[in-house]
Amino acid sequence: MKITEVETFLVPPRWLFCRVGTDAGLVGWGEPVVEGRAGSVRAAVDELTDLLIGSDPRRIEDLWQAMTKAAFYRGGPVLSSAVAGIDQALWDILGQSLGVPVHQLLGGAVRERVRVYGWIGGDEPSQVADAAAERVAAGLTAVKMNASGRIGRMPTAAETAGVVNRLAAVREVMGEDRDVAVDFHGRFTVAAARRVIPELAPLHPLFVEEPVLPEYTHRLADVVAASPVPVATGERLFSRTDFLPALRAGVAVVQPDLSHAGGVSEVRRIAALAEAHDALLAPHCPLGPIALAASLQVAFAAPNFLIQEQSIGIHYNADAELLDYVLDRESFAFPDGFIARTDAPGLGVRIDEAAVRRADRAGHRWRPPVWRHPDGSLAEW
Ligand SMILES: [Mg+2]
Repeated sequence: MKITEVETFLVPPRWLFCRVGTDAGLVGWGEPVVEGRAGSVRAAVDELTDLLIGSDPRRIEDLWQAMTKAAFYRGGPVLSSAVAGIDQALWDILGQSLGVPVHQLLGGAVRERVRVYGWIGGDEPSQVADAAAERVAAGLTAVKMNASGRIGRMPTAAETAGVVNRLAAVREVMGEDRDVAVDFHGRFTVAAARRVIPELAPLHPLFVEEPVLPEYTHRLADVVAASPVPVATGERLFSRTDFLPALRAGVAVVQPDLSHAGGVSEVRRIAALAEAHDALLAPHCPLGPIALAASLQVAFAAPNFLIQEQSIGIHYNADAELLDYVLDRESFAFPDGFIARTDAPGLGVRIDEAAVRRADRAGHRWRPPVWRHPDGSLAEW
């Protein structure tokens, strides 16, 4: 079997899909995107096409090695995301060629269903309690919220109280049998994170996420030492070697993104590395249906899986929804907060190609907001 074509589709709200065609008639889908840089990733996929056309799509590891290493310069979000989406499509083709789901190729299912969570509150969390109640009504048993909106890197007493009070309001709605996780989005300094996290601990958040920016991973051990709450990180880390120092620093939960961190191939290796550090896997996925399907395949097969992010109803999805691009919408249903295992071949998602081609004609130019502090200097979004 040979790869004959690689197409990309820039689809709202902020995604990029790829379609890998073969001379056997099999088609694999992937989602190579880093939010806000979809055009750059599209160009990277186009450059990688030179390695792919004419190659056997079933030799995934060899192609992964070539895509990540043969161009001498390596790593970074754009290249890692381009490789990630192509890798998803290759696993999709391999599974279809054998008539089995990808999780079977990863050693077989270790669970029957996957617990998922949803975002509440958007970038500036205000009505979080109402949003949490809506998510509980929709069936979810876990939500994630931002600790704060735009905030000083060394928050005031009032700002810190605001963080605690918003979490308390959500905990009240969720009760003690459901979970709420808190995303710091790298908005605080190491010192501020050390001061704020212990104040959240009595409210028992599932984990605190990105308490500091990824460039301060070398200080993460100081945060972990001061945190009674499990620390999670990883949506802005892209490889095993990126995750190793975070795991050595003592993070409890790793959050690689299947569309950023080298796809199914690399995320299953990151999961194994996490397992060797007694850390759990909770993949990041505020993305579309292919990224979610790939995440679920890894979750079905990873023994140290904790919970999966999914974007249905997320605030970013204003122009289009995850389900707009799939034919088998029921496969993403989450009664009781869990998505059931599928034994459909490949990634187990049937993409509505006509809808994707239509959406690509509209395209998008999604960019994250540029935030400023009151003094005019750049603020972390
Ligand atoms: Mg996050």
